[in-house]
Amino acid sequence: MSDRIKEKLEILADAAKYDVSCSSSGSNRKNKARGLGDTGAGICHTYTEDGRCVSLLKILLTNFCIYDCAYCVTRKSNDIKRAAFTVQEVVDLTINFYRRNYIEGLFLSSGIFKSADYTMERLVLVAKKLRMECNFNGYIHLKTIPGANDELLYEAGLYADRLSVNIEIPTESGLKLLAPDKNRRDMLQPMGYLKQKIVQLKEEKKTLKKVPLFTPAGQSTQMIIGASGETDAQIIHTAQHLYRKFYLKRVYYSGYVPISNDNRLPAIGAAVPLVRENRLYQTDWLLRFYGFEAGEIVNERYPLLDLDVDPKLGWALRNLAVFPIDVNRADLHLILRIPGIGVASAHKIIAARKFTALNMEQLREMGIAVNRAKYFIVCKGFKQLNSDRSEEVIKQYIMQSSHSKYQKIHNKQLILFS
Ligand code: SF4
Repeated sequence: MSDRIKEKLEILADAAKYDVSCSSSGSNRKNKARGLGDTGAGICHTYTEDGRCVSLLKILLTNFCIYDCAYCVTRKSNDIKRAAFTVQEVVDLTINFYRRNYIEGLFLSSGIFKSADYTMERLVLVAKKLRMECNFNGYIHLKTIPGANDELLYEAGLYADRLSVNIEIPTESGLKLLAPDKNRRDMLQPMGYLKQKIVQLKEEKKTLKKVPLFTPAGQSTQMIIGASGETDAQIIHTAQHLYRKFYLKRVYYSGYVPISNDNRLPAIGAAVPLVRENRLYQTDWLLRFYGFEAGEIVNERYPLLDLDVDPKLGWALRNLAVFPIDVNRADLHLILRIPGIGVASAHKIIAARKFTALNMEQLREMGIAVNRAKYFIVCKGFKQLNSDRSEEVIKQYIMQSSHSKYQKIHNKQLILFS
């Protein structure tokens, strides 16, 4: 690798690390005869503890940008080293790293140079060359550029496994304040187009023999947390709306890293809200897998998540009247609401109790966190602990007996290349 390419890689991988919207899950593109790569079982999806994916070559095509979003290191007014890869350079790097087993795919984003279409065209070209000329069947995640036209989005969907349109700031007013050049419509329009195409091609698949593979891992988005003063309620309601309206596969949250002296933003040196970011990810699971509505977790009365405890426990403490839940009788949706019981354990309970009434020891053996669950359940030979205590007292008991792995996270994002 030439020194110039190395230098570009350093600059453009560093600039890309702020984008957390990449994940290689959910695609099943298979290797074809004599092709290179496979997004199936052979891929190990590696995530950092705070949810960031590290198994992809994650770079920007360029960090030149015509826009000036206050929260972005790439903004045009920032005095930084700039660089741009050619399409062929990104293709060569991807193949090179893939062959050396450094990566399992490519995550490619970009600053906007010249125009949205001009930039998007080049992103698409990278993916097209990888697929059509290099026969590359590894994972490709492309960032779509807000404002790019539908034909380019369609082409992107033919070559990429996943596309993401970053919403960046959870509210329209926050976006106006921090990124006056951008508008929300340019972000929502491509999401709507991609959803409509995904649904249409899925329908066609039912009747037609040959339907092109179109962004098989779906679309995702990213929201920056803590840059613009939104409450958790605003963030979580926005996420729920995006899931429902655009069938997103994932909403990613990225705690704002203070990078500029700008009185619209938290000062340089302010802590990155990593615990809050993790609580939002936990909430995301509640929305997607546990049957919670956003309004149950956060609302006008509770606009902020309790950072001391996970959001499911927070909900349970505020709703003690729902408990105790009898694990030997309750429906699945109620069992899923018991702190300490995950989705897999809830299903195990439903299956096992057909044969025997479950006791505490059996629950423990199923992997249930009984140190939390015991305040909310009854089971064979066991009555809810401290049922006469207040929410605050139970919370203290639980916190004393457990150590959140998130409390100690002060680490920065991992660096792919040093
Ligand atoms: S358009 Fe994207 S790359 Fe450009 S400044 Fe805004 S967030 Fe950064």
